[in-house]
Amino acid sequence: TVSVVLFTSDLRVHDNPVLSAAVRGSDQVVPLFVDDDGVRAAGFDAPNRQAFLADCLTDLDAALRARGGHLVIRSGDVVDEVCAVVSATGARQVHLAGGVSRYAARREGRLRAALDTIGCALSVHDAVVTALAPGAVTPADRDHYTVFTPYLRRWSEAGVREVAAAPRKIATPEVAPGTLPRRASVAGVSPGLMAGGETEGRKRLRQWLSGGIAGYEEGHDDLAGDATSRLSPFLHFGALSAVELIHAARREGSPGAQAFVRQLAWRDFHHQVLAARPASAHQDYRPRGDRWRDDEREIAAWRAGRTGYPLVDAAMRQLAHEGWMHNRGRMLTASFLTKTLYANWRTGARHFLDLLVDGDLANNQLNWQWVAGTGTDTRPNRVLNPVVQGKRFDPLGTYVGRWVPELAGLARGVVHEPWKLEPAERAALDYPEPIVDLAEGRARFERARGV
Ligand code: FAD
Repeated sequence: TVSVVLFTSDLRVHDNPVLSAAVRGSDQVVPLFVDDDGVRAAGFDAPNRQAFLADCLTDLDAALRARGGHLVIRSGDVVDEVCAVVSATGARQVHLAGGVSRYAARREGRLRAALDTIGCALSVHDAVVTALAPGAVTPADRDHYTVFTPYLRRWSEAGVREVAAAPRKIATPEVAPGTLPRRASVAGVSPGLMAGGETEGRKRLRQWLSGGIAGYEEGHDDLAGDATSRLSPFLHFGALSAVELIHAARREGSPGAQAFVRQLAWRDFHHQVLAARPASAHQDYRPRGDRWRDDEREIAAWRAGRTGYPLVDAAMRQLAHEGWMHNRGRMLTASFLTKTLYANWRTGARHFLDLLVDGDLANNQLNWQWVAGTGTDTRPNRVLNPVVQGKRFDPLGTYVGRWVPELAGLARGVVHEPWKLEPAERAALDYPEPIVDLAEGRARFERARGV
């Protein structure tokens, strides 16, 4: 018998229950990836993610070849392409990881109906993209958790599935492999974009487990220390499995590892919100009656990292250069846009999705809503102050100096407040004046929200 594995957000051979089930249940497996028109039409094909994806697919193909098979690449409408491969190979079953977005649900429904007409079954596997399937734990009175802390308690008690061993051998029937995309042919990639792929992810994971993780609890907010795992893109594409990470971190056992596991619970939390409320990718989860200002000049300055607030600008420039931004920077820049400038969170979320290599519908949109106060934050009207945040999380100004070279070398007393410099010194810097007064911005936001 032949079965097809449709790879989506699970681009790995280790701990991949979809691939394992297919190998176990059939003699031959067609590992298929479709460069899906629907994903491109939704604007999800940002260059940084296309480049990282190319790395992931190249690496996945190599891993499959080492086991006797190979990846099959197609492009077009995902349902048409899967059906064509099923018909060409006589497959009786298609295996797929369950997704959480409205798009994933529609894809699954369309696939099931189309496969049904050609006598092929669809098996959808849970707990592949997330550690716990959305809906695996629910409160007594609703279909999903709206507050993180009680979710975390239940999530921690629930326990995750065992790790699935990587298949040793994969037999793939005669089928044209198609063309692997190449990272080098993607235009517009951030110059400092990290390399992708399962092999690279596993290397980083090993380094993380034997090094950084132990200091994660104290170090995770230290912007200059850059002491987080940077595993988010690997998780987004499924080049690493959240389940495997949780088992490994629990074995390591330090307070840092526990704090790291808690962050993976945040990832599941947002996924279960999106699965239950797919519209929250675009609509306010908790509408606050906002009438956003959307000042184009201010938004352009924010995008360019030229707001005149050093920490905001450093983080925005890190995003442009690396296609990645530290979580503390994401929180601050999002608060600055949605609260201090009182611009629509969708504008910021779109810009992030255009650049972030880990750009993810659940994590991005719902974190943006969390910061904007239209999501699940229980303190929706708090406003982060870039000067206070700078002094706290980048006390020496090292992070600012790294990304805003105009300010490199300024004394710690002024690096987050360059307007305090003597006028002559200030004038010598090619650095903008603040585009907004922080107190005014906050007052405007609080008035609008009726705080
Ligand atoms: P670590 O600190 O090492 O954490 C480990 C893993 O836990 C991360 O890789 C990630 O998978 C998960 N995680 C950590 N924090 C969060 C969180 N707040 N929500 C959900 N999962 C989390 N994360 C994305 O993966 N994709 C996004 O598009 C994204 N957009 C964001 C937008 C905003 C406005 C904010 C405030 C946060 C966003 N995050 C997003 C969450 C978080 O900032 C990143 O996951 C994290 O910075 C990635 O770096 P890391 O892998 O070093 O994280």
